[in-house]
Amino acid sequence: MAKEELECSFCGRKKPETNLLIAGLDAHICDKCIEQAHGIVLEELKQGEAKELSSDLMLSKPKVIKEFLDQYVIGQEATKKVMSVAVYNHYKRLLQPASGDDVEIQKSNIVMVGETGTGKTLIAKTIAKMLNVPLAIVDATVLTEAGYVGEDVEGILTRLLQAADYNVEKAQRGIVFIDEIDKIARKSDNPSITRDVSGEGVQQALLKLLEGTTVNVPPKGGRKHPDQKFVEVDTENILFIAGGAFDGIERNISKRLNMQAVGFSASKSEDNIERTNLLKYIIPKDLKDFGLIPEIIGRLPALTYMNPLDESTLRSILTEPKNAIIKQYKKLFEMDDIEFEMTDDALDYIVEKAVEYKLGARGLRSLCEAVLTDAMFEMPESGKSKLKITRAYAEEKLNKSTISKLKAVS
Ligand code: ADP
Repeated sequence: MAKEELECSFCGRKKPETNLLIAGLDAHICDKCIEQAHGIVLEELKQGEAKELSSDLMLSKPKVIKEFLDQYVIGQEATKKVMSVAVYNHYKRLLQPASGDDVEIQKSNIVMVGETGTGKTLIAKTIAKMLNVPLAIVDATVLTEAGYVGEDVEGILTRLLQAADYNVEKAQRGIVFIDEIDKIARKSDNPSITRDVSGEGVQQALLKLLEGTTVNVPPKGGRKHPDQKFVEVDTENILFIAGGAFDGIERNISKRLNMQAVGFSASKSEDNIERTNLLKYIIPKDLKDFGLIPEIIGRLPALTYMNPLDESTLRSILTEPKNAIIKQYKKLFEMDDIEFEMTDDALDYIVEKAVEYKLGARGLRSLCEAVLTDAMFEMPESGKSKLKITRAYAEEKLNKSTISKLKAVS
C-alpha cells in the first residue's frame, strides 16, 4: 500500500488527516482514536473499581472489621466496636440502591475522645487500610477561617485528593481523620470579646464538609493537574473521624454526674483511674460544654472514648500487633541471617522506662532504638548468628544513651 493511502482502521481517516498513525500487525490506529479508546479504558476502570469497592465492602461485616482492628490495635474494645459498626453502616449507606422510600440513612461520622498516643490515629489508619480507601490525616490546629494565616478548611480535601492520587471518585469515598478537634473548641462563651480566629468560624466551615457539600478544591502541586485550577469534590460520602484529648473534659463529666471533681492533690495514678472511669460516661453534651458547637456534635453521631495505656497494654503493644515493634526488629535482623530475641525481663524493662519517662506507646520505639542501635551497627559484619537482648544489656545501653533526650520525645 502506498504511504499516502494508509488509513486508520478504526475511523477510516486518511494518514494526512491525522497527526499520527500507528501501525499494528495488520491495522493502523490514529491519534484521535487512541485518545478516544483511552477515555473508554479509564471509564471502564472506574466502573470496575466501584464494583470492586462494593464487593469488598459488602464482605466486611462489623465483626470482621473488629477482628481486623484487633490485629493492629491492642485494647480499646469500646472504640473498636463503635468504629466497626459506624464504618459498616457508613459503607452500607453508600451501597444502598436508590430506592423510592423516604428512609435516608445518614452519615455516621465518628469522634474519639482520649489522651494523645492511645491509638486514635492508628485506628483510623487501620480502617483505611482494611477498606483500601484513601486516608487524609489533618491537624485541626492548623485550620483557620478563610482569609487568615493558616490552612483553609478546604485544604483537608486537597490532602485527601493527594492520598487518592487525584482520583476524585476514590477521594469521595475516602476517610478524613481530623486530629485535635478539641483545639477548635470555642474559647469563651462570649464570642464578641475577641475574634475567635481558630474557633467557632472554623467549626462552621468544617460543618459544611461534614454535612456533605460540593467543594472546589485546589489540587496544589498535583502533577496530574498542572493547569487545572480547581477539582470539584463532593463530601457527601466521605467518612470523617475526629479525635481529640479534650483535656479537662472529665471535670464536665463529673460535674454532670454530680460527682466530686478530681482533687488537685490527687496523685497522677489516681488521676488516670478517675479519667478512665469518667471518659466512659461521656455524652454529646459534654462536648458542647467543652466548646464544640451543637451542629458539629450532631454531625459526629458516633461518640467513643479511648483508655489510657497501662503497663500491660504497653507490654502487649511491643510484641502482639501484626506489625509490632519487636516483630519488625526480628525481621530486620533476619535479613542479615541473625536470630533476634529479647527476653521477657528486657521487654518489661523497656515498658517500665516508657512509663517512667511518660513516653507512652510512641516512646517504645525510641527506647528500642536506643537499646539496639549498637547491635544493629555491629552485628551485620560480626559473623554472629544470634542476638539475645537481656535486661542487663538493655539497662547498660539505655544508661549510656542520653536518656534526657528520650525524655523530650513525646
Ligand atoms: P493518637 O492518635 O491517639 O495520638 P497514635 O494512634 O498516633 O495515637 O499512637 C501512636 C503510636 O502508638 C502508634 O503508632 C502505635 O504504634 C502505638 N499505639 C498507641 N496505642 C496503641 C494500641 N492501642 N495498640 C497498638 N499500638 C498502639
